[in-house]
Amino acid sequence: MTAPLLSVRGIKVSFGGVKAADGVDLDVNQGEFLAIIGPNGSGKTTFINLATGYVKPKAGTIHLEGRDITSHKPREITKLGIARAFQIPQLFGDHTVLDNLMLAVAANRGFWRWQTPLGSEGVRQAAMELLDTVGLADLAATHSSALSEGGRKLTDIALALALQPRLLLLDEPTAGVSTDEKHPLMEKLAKVLRDRGVTAVFVEHDMDLVRRYADRVVVWNQGRVVAEGPPDTVLSDPAVLRDVVGV
Ligand code: ADP
Repeated sequence: MTAPLLSVRGIKVSFGGVKAADGVDLDVNQGEFLAIIGPNGSGKTTFINLATGYVKPKAGTIHLEGRDITSHKPREITKLGIARAFQIPQLFGDHTVLDNLMLAVAANRGFWRWQTPLGSEGVRQAAMELLDTVGLADLAATHSSALSEGGRKLTDIALALALQPRLLLLDEPTAGVSTDEKHPLMEKLAKVLRDRGVTAVFVEHDMDLVRRYADRVVVWNQGRVVAEGPPDTVLSDPAVLRDVVGV
């Protein structure tokens, strides 16, 4: 078995008296699509903030492929290949979807404004390929303000992929997306990740989506991992259903 991509050990985080992480051990395996579920306030977003360096633990370690990143700054962590979607600054609404993507690709290649990256054919091509990957090539010339919520999420995913991540963290990818768009969005997302070999973690409240798309589920409650395993097993555990899913 290959070593985990991300390995978290003994992590503790408190905000005032609240224990958002209370001795968490968690591995994210290479190539998996891992769901995190749990009640509101259980520490799911804190985990994403830890993995991206925005929150620092008072105890414990975080390793990315064996490298200790516990004290790394968010910028350094991004450079090492951990990206987060849906927390990226707003799309430029008065620019086209393609322009937004080209800016992300150019920024990732280290272009600066005065180097007119948008004139570069290589950047345009890479941006178009990303749009094609998430199924938005037909909307390249659309202003991003005219996108549906599902379209915005897919654009966000394409923006995150422009960073060429090894690990993508998604905080509620389907939040705000219409019911009709949820499954197509997740289907597309799962396929893109598989095709590109990107490992991903998603926080999700919709158990149908978790059951259908996650390879593995980790359950949080009160700052602790209380269960983990394949979706069918975890989501038929009476304690998980009672305490976490709320049925
Ligand atoms: P979840 O994502 O599961 O809803 P969070 O990780 O956002 O949970 O929050 C876990 C707990 O930590 C909550 O009680 C929340 O209010 C608290 N918390 C999270 N971030 C902060 C912060 N920056 N300042 C103060 N309290 C926070």
